[in-house]
Amino acid sequence: IKQNCFKMNKEIRVESPNVVYTDEYIESDYEYTTTKVRTEGNTLIATPETTRYVFRTERKVPKLGVMLVGWGGNNGTTVTAAVLANKLGITWNTKEGERQPDYFGSLTQASTVSLGVGPEGEVFVPMKTLLPMVDANDIEFDGWDISCLNLGDAMRRAQVLDYDLQRQLYPIMSKLQPRPSIYFPDFIAANQRDRADNLKSGTKKEMIDQIRADIQDFRMKKNVDKVIVIWSANTERFSDVRAGLNDTAENLLNSIERGEEEISQSTLFAVASVLEGVTFINGSPQNALVPGVIELAEKKQVYLGGDDFKSGQTKLKSVLVDFLVSAGIKPVSIVSYNHLGNNDGRNLSAPQTFRSKEITKTNVVDDMVASNSILYEPGEKPDHAVVIKYVPYVGDSKRAMDEYTSEIMLGGRNTIAIHNTCEDSLLASPLILDLAIIAELCERIQFRKEGEDEFHKFNTALSILSILCKAPLTARGTPIMNAFFKQRACIDNIFRACIGLAPLNHMGLEYKQD
Ligand code: NAD
Repeated sequence: IKQNCFKMNKEIRVESPNVVYTDEYIESDYEYTTTKVRTEGNTLIATPETTRYVFRTERKVPKLGVMLVGWGGNNGTTVTAAVLANKLGITWNTKEGERQPDYFGSLTQASTVSLGVGPEGEVFVPMKTLLPMVDANDIEFDGWDISCLNLGDAMRRAQVLDYDLQRQLYPIMSKLQPRPSIYFPDFIAANQRDRADNLKSGTKKEMIDQIRADIQDFRMKKNVDKVIVIWSANTERFSDVRAGLNDTAENLLNSIERGEEEISQSTLFAVASVLEGVTFINGSPQNALVPGVIELAEKKQVYLGGDDFKSGQTKLKSVLVDFLVSAGIKPVSIVSYNHLGNNDGRNLSAPQTFRSKEITKTNVVDDMVASNSILYEPGEKPDHAVVIKYVPYVGDSKRAMDEYTSEIMLGGRNTIAIHNTCEDSLLASPLILDLAIIAELCERIQFRKEGEDEFHKFNTALSILSILCKAPLTARGTPIMNAFFKQRACIDNIFRACIGLAPLNHMGLEYKQD
């Protein structure tokens, strides 16, 4: 099969009466077809429905700044190093020879989308060329950490990158200094206390003002047009959600004013970002995005994304369980063991932070199980256990071992055992880039239904980011979709809709007639 992928960033231009390119926008007039279903007696009546939408995508790509909470951590230093290595074209020596930088693992930078059919078959293009997107190499980083180590020393502490790459990056990275952060010891493991030497002081309200001032300072100093804040700091325990405390925007702001103890540091970062009009994404499992934050973001029309990067074991689970259930096979027991030796693993060795991770790791199969009433009775679920152990020796090279037991025909049992070894931060870092790049693009997309005068943004809870999150945040009352390839199709098809192309349907009728 001839490789029909254009590696080079060729520009894509759609020729169609339904697509208009102006200097400012790409506008597409789009036909969205769905199927409505109702029950009449013993019959399900399915009716196709078509709605016309106009999508409008701003063409000017801004200069993007990403601020990471936990910048000096394994993910923070690794993603910063990756962008510097790619931007500066740094090559390094390994025992296998010279290595070039890349963005493997990033949807936007290293995956392709089928554009259509050319004279020589299906044509694939890099996802980043479908619409005007920020190039990963152009992202400016900044951020906060409770540890005062500069990024060069923090990169060394992380022990993720090859020595020769660290050596070349050190002079640049050591000039980058995380800003002081907020530290409420009760929310993370006690074993993190030694790290906490770079802290803000003051009341909760004053700390929010300081974070806002940091965001403004970064904007000004680096001359960035837009900022996105991503939480990549330690996993916190869940905070209580209570009426009067954090259930509405007003109650949350009042609780912050009063200095209520149960308002976590991640919630303060989310509130500060929203008040600055800046998208906030939660890369850890805890409930930073309490209802009061969501309501505040809705009022301020700011995007929120989360929770918890879907990088390894859970990503595989969201493929494997979908495969089994959609093949008519019944998973009955899923047991996932992890051992890891990085600081994330150390923090997760406390029961209350582990519990946050357990929640995001186990909910991921629910929608797939619920989709098949032949295999499962209503409410029935597979047994699902998650274990995480801190084993310092393995460092960032996480081991994930999974056993999936399923029932097959006539009482048969099918057991799949998987052993995955992988540098955790090299999986998570490309997701940080994708979250920022896709969220930024979504800020430039608007759409309106036939008959509406005004364009709308996406919902505050930016569910298009689901593919990158273990526990996707979705708008109230809308379904959560965890299956990886459905999430992928959602992104591909929304991007295609923006340039007036029909969804990918894989029917291949052009090849099927005799
Ligand atoms: P890490 O421990 O190396 O980095 C976290 C950093 O956050 C540390 O430098 C720490 O000093 C800092 N920190 C802690 N509390 C802070 C605060 N209040 N403000 C600012 N900084 C603070 O961990 P990591 O491996 O980089 O992972 C970061 C987060 O991402 C963890 O919560 C982890 O669970 C989550 N996550 C990671 C992966 C992955 O690496 N594959 C996948 C999913 C989720």
